Amino acid sequence: MSIISNYNIDNNTLVRVKEKSKSFAVAISKAMREQTLIACYDDVGHMDAKKTLHNLEQLYWWPNMQKDCKNYVRSCHKCQVVNHRTANAYGLLQQLPIPTTPWEIVSADHVICLPQIRSGNTNMLVLIDHATRYVVATPSAPLGVHSVTDALYHNIILRYGLPSMYISDRGTAFPARHTQHFLQKYGVTQSMTPPYSQQANSIVERANGIIVSTLKKLTDKNPDKWDELLPNALLAINTTKQNSTKKSPFYLLFGYEPRLPRELHIGSFIDDTPREDQLNLLILARAEAANNVYEAHLENKHRFDLHRKSHSFKAGDLVLYDWPKQGDHKLSPIFKGPFVIARPVGAVCYEIKSRTLQNKFIKVVHVQHRRSYFKRDADDMQNNTSYGENEKMIHLQKIRIQQKIIKKFL
Ligand SMILES: [Zn+2]
Repeated sequence: MSIISNYNIDNNTLVRVKEKSKSFAVAISKAMREQTLIACYDDVGHMDAKKTLHNLEQLYWWPNMQKDCKNYVRSCHKCQVVNHRTANAYGLLQQLPIPTTPWEIVSADHVICLPQIRSGNTNMLVLIDHATRYVVATPSAPLGVHSVTDALYHNIILRYGLPSMYISDRGTAFPARHTQHFLQKYGVTQSMTPPYSQQANSIVERANGIIVSTLKKLTDKNPDKWDELLPNALLAINTTKQNSTKKSPFYLLFGYEPRLPRELHIGSFIDDTPREDQLNLLILARAEAANNVYEAHLENKHRFDLHRKSHSFKAGDLVLYDWPKQGDHKLSPIFKGPFVIARPVGAVCYEIKSRTLQNKFIKVVHVQHRRSYFKRDADDMQNNTSYGENEKMIHLQKIRIQQKIIKKFL
């Protein structure tokens, strides 16, 4: 029996007649909508919103079904923690400060898993000056706390003076309390870059790559004597023109190019530029080096940012974090959480914390490992329905009940 032009009661069910196709769809009451979504989404393998809507439209209809379907799929917890990221990761490339004074900013990192040398060490600690890219490296104990501060003190502070900023990442030893006390004592600001971040401490990581590759070639017959050839590798690196500064680290630090042993055999000359001119040239070279680094950064930034998006998280926002945990396997969720944003730390990091007081958890993470979390709100679906549509549904349901009553009496 026809009730309203495009609604029917069919087999005791309210049916909506689609005008264009003249096909039918069961009108789903508010109370049944979540169950319908579970049947067409959760129970059929979590397809995307478009496919789920297609499934729904085959048989069902309710006001704002498309919007409800989209919100329901977007807020699925399982999909949010399991699915790979399809959009660009957050976090545009940040500019590290470009110093012109040597040893103003120092980066540190460990190279681990090297062949064991006679002293028993398998690690190397690398320190690099940002202004000149001059590299200092020493064998070190396995991520030992004291080896970091010892190297900073003996190899940097006692030779070149106090840096104003120290950048480190990875290794558990680096953020240790002992290191913090040491840096505080000497008035050095510590910039901590979080683990698993490709942007973090890139200058020293690039230097590590060059040292390891140079050592591989120098020590091919005796890899367990890499410590003996490390000074040769460092001299070669420090006296070679760098792509970023377009000068050798040695020149930018000391103001002259050293005579190298090889020159005894091949021949060389002594630079007789007047002393005053040498100093002016050095000042100019350092300024040019800083400018070259800045231009290289702009180029990198342009390339990098093509695959990134900017971010604007605020305290209280819910986020997921792609956190590889011990014991994870192929079928483990990629993202863990949701966590709550506590506060920003620098330009691209945030402190995140757990949502419950019982499970205390605070961690500083880089924005590139973050994904916004969409919480499913049970009221959303009902709020989405406009007043007019609700009224219409109530009216239709009332008629449906009346129909039932009439049928009983017939
Ligand atoms: Zn899902």
